[in-house]
Amino acid sequence: MENATINLLNLDRASLEKLFVDMGEHRFRAEQAMKWIYGDFELDFNQFNNFSKVLRNRLSETCMTALPELLNESKSSDGTIKWLLKVDDINAVETVFIPEKNRGTLCVSSQVGCTLNCTFCATGAQGFNRHLTTAEIIAQVWVAAKQLGHHKNNRVITNVVMMGMGEPLANYENVLPALNIMRDDLGFGFANRRVTVSTAGLVPKIVQLNQDADVALAISLHAPFDDLRNKLVPVNKKYNIETLLSACKDFIKNKRKARITIEYTLIDGVNDQPEHARALCLLLADLPSKINLIPFNPFPGSLFKQSKPDAIEQFKAICMKNGFITTVRKTRGDDIAAACGQLAGEFMDRTRRSSQVNKLQLELV
Ligand code: SAH
Repeated sequence: MENATINLLNLDRASLEKLFVDMGEHRFRAEQAMKWIYGDFELDFNQFNNFSKVLRNRLSETCMTALPELLNESKSSDGTIKWLLKVDDINAVETVFIPEKNRGTLCVSSQVGCTLNCTFCATGAQGFNRHLTTAEIIAQVWVAAKQLGHHKNNRVITNVVMMGMGEPLANYENVLPALNIMRDDLGFGFANRRVTVSTAGLVPKIVQLNQDADVALAISLHAPFDDLRNKLVPVNKKYNIETLLSACKDFIKNKRKARITIEYTLIDGVNDQPEHARALCLLLADLPSKINLIPFNPFPGSLFKQSKPDAIEQFKAICMKNGFITTVRKTRGDDIAAACGQLAGEFMDRTRRSSQVNKLQLELV
């Protein structure tokens, strides 16, 4: 495939239609191509038997269908599966499947590393190398679906959450088409509310997402006070709690029954006291939301400790008493380092952020 340039997995339906129209073809070719790629897991143009030989050849001259290479699959004793995908010679990312009784959640990465430096996150501690392309993001769903035997009539994956490595809204341009393919009937056909974008709080991008994609939103809040949040989630210095929650209110305005998921990692002695829980409930009083408590997962080099079971229970009880649906996220896949905040992929830290993160942790423990 010499000179092949355009990877069809980078294009959502609208862009694929444009590609075919620009080639002088009918736009329904886009639908046919999507059916092959996402419905039949067929990447070889030669097998697209509703395309003429001439069209298949033309396509091969200018386009390709390329996936990252699957380097490793690890399976946890609790059924969680983690895949390591090689995206180029020096970078690999992780994707995690979490099976539960009535659903299966796929946790997808958006960047190799992350720039946001959240003090308690393994990905942030590793530094940042680059954004993933749309193809590399949607390929995670493709590979997981293929490995799991997921297809239209056997929906093993029920939910997709952009909660793997990286900050999805910092890679908006590439994430948006991937969100479109996930929800397109000819892509993976997930319902809007079953695709969740999780963000540390890039407010202008939340505003933009609200215009561009009807997906569910999760906010990594982790602290009810700005001074504490500045240390745990440094992007708070740019967009503080008030600004963030106001953007959340706009996001779910006019969306019936929708709720924002508030993620809150519980760190021993740092943000897990009753005063934190009460302040959190006050903050969220007029935001339709549910609270997801995540006991901190340690990673190599982290100084924080997981909150004690009593503190977790007490925190949860206060939230519930104040009327919030509150869940404590079970730690899944920790024997394969697949739990929240443990995903690190494999790449070289070009930014040497880990030392900065350690300094911030020291201030808090
Ligand atoms: N950048 C996005 C998505 C990635 S992280 C975001 O910030 O939302 C997914 C969730 O796991 C976030 O809520 C994140 O704050 C949380 N998390 C990160 N590190 C963690 C750790 N070590 N233990 C528990 N939760 C962690």
